[in-house]
Amino acid sequence: METHESVAVFDTTLRDGEQAAGSRLGRREKLMIAEQLARLGVDVIEAGFPCSSPEDFAAVELIASEVRAPVICGLSRAVAADIEACGRALARAQRSRIHTGLGVSDIHIAGKFGDERYGCTLAEKKERVLAMAVGAVRQAASLADEVEFYAEDAGRTDQEYLARVLSAVAEAGATVINVPDTTGYSVPQQYGQLIARLRGLLPAGVVLSVHCHNDLGIAVANTLAGVAGGARQVECTINGIGERAGNAALEEVVMALRTRKDFFALTTGIDSRELCRTSRMVAEALGMRVPPNKPVVGRNAFAHSSGIHVDGVLKSRDTYEIMRPEDVGMEAARVVLTARTGRHGLRHRLTELGKVLADGELEQLYQRFLQVADRKREVTDDDLLALVGDEIRPTPETYRLEYLRVESETGTAPAARVRLRRGEATLTGEGRGDGPVDAVYKAIAAAVGTAPRLERYEIEAVTGGTEALGTVTVLLDLEGRAVMGRGTSTDILEASARAYLDGLNRIAAPDNSVGNGERVL
Ligand code: MN
Repeated sequence: METHESVAVFDTTLRDGEQAAGSRLGRREKLMIAEQLARLGVDVIEAGFPCSSPEDFAAVELIASEVRAPVICGLSRAVAADIEACGRALARAQRSRIHTGLGVSDIHIAGKFGDERYGCTLAEKKERVLAMAVGAVRQAASLADEVEFYAEDAGRTDQEYLARVLSAVAEAGATVINVPDTTGYSVPQQYGQLIARLRGLLPAGVVLSVHCHNDLGIAVANTLAGVAGGARQVECTINGIGERAGNAALEEVVMALRTRKDFFALTTGIDSRELCRTSRMVAEALGMRVPPNKPVVGRNAFAHSSGIHVDGVLKSRDTYEIMRPEDVGMEAARVVLTARTGRHGLRHRLTELGKVLADGELEQLYQRFLQVADRKREVTDDDLLALVGDEIRPTPETYRLEYLRVESETGTAPAARVRLRRGEATLTGEGRGDGPVDAVYKAIAAAVGTAPRLERYEIEAVTGGTEALGTVTVLLDLEGRAVMGRGTSTDILEASARAYLDGLNRIAAPDNSVGNGERVL
């Protein structure tokens, strides 16, 4: 069998992706995603930016101590205190990497190092920046197993100076050099040429990494051009989430390399059958929906509607399919379970779907499953995964819904009454609103004595049919702190109540303090 060179996959969903999301993740949720990224087979997980907030520090520390196979990476500016914090957060990693660097273009240097202590002329400042880069890499190398250096705004940096900086940091111990297109300004041919030129300048042992943003919709194209130019690490995020228009989507980059192996002659360590599951998990955790036409993981990514195409695919799949849905883990939502399914059958199917529950959790889920199976008769895999997401929560349930009653009549304002449990206490509340959902939310706010602002409300059917499970996603804002909440039920008002309570539970969770993290790269 012919052997191919491989490309390392560096996932920054938990850093670049999360810093841009409307809601922040708690550290248990980040750990859950990191564990799935390990199952997916990524080479490096950029777990966060430890210096940006205590919560980010704790999340990186937790992932570093729990997640094994991938290298665990933390981001740090080229500042001694940042690097030191990053090293501490990564201390328990099996293999750690500090990703540090700074802006190297004239624009960045003039803008960020304007102070005279960095030198009076631009030429002096550039020498100072070079020395800072080398110092940062040396310090990082003493605190982690590996150092990756990012040369921010490399695309707008004069070539000669860039080559000097990169050679110096490689000499100082950086084994991976990231050439980010931070602003999403590059076009593929030009970016590919930049990478190829740098490849020629750097020692063979140094890996070049590409980090592309999607402002012009070409992050994946730029990434692939970089790979063709000699980059051997790709930085990307699940579902392409990230600053502004996002980063290069991991699933697209990986499937492009795999589908066009004839062209790239490269492999990755990714188990592509885990792609859809990972995509769904990240979308759920952040309350961001995957567009149906999203390449690789969108619901319609493999749906043929044109008559000629359908006919062609039925005769021979190769006619119009360049990838198979099973290759990315997109099985059709199959009917599997009914109210007659026992606990054993439920556990078995959950295990097949990659969900391993403790006995107590299984019992809790089973009771919920029976309620849904009674109403819905047939429970699909998608239904089951939605129920797991609804019932087995990463945040403690401070408030639990016990009872909900909604009265709605033409010509009168809808009224709602709720009863909640908080520990041993029972809380009740009533409310009237413009619509039934508004009434439910006013009743819950009255019961708990706090009323976060509803920023966004979305409802989505998990599977088709009038008996479908609906999942409601809300974005709540409590004094400037944004949290996401999600709830699932066959009754949309109950799903709405559950979503609102989930948001309140996230606000109440002790490990969910949200830092005001600085954003870079
Ligand atoms: Mn970025």
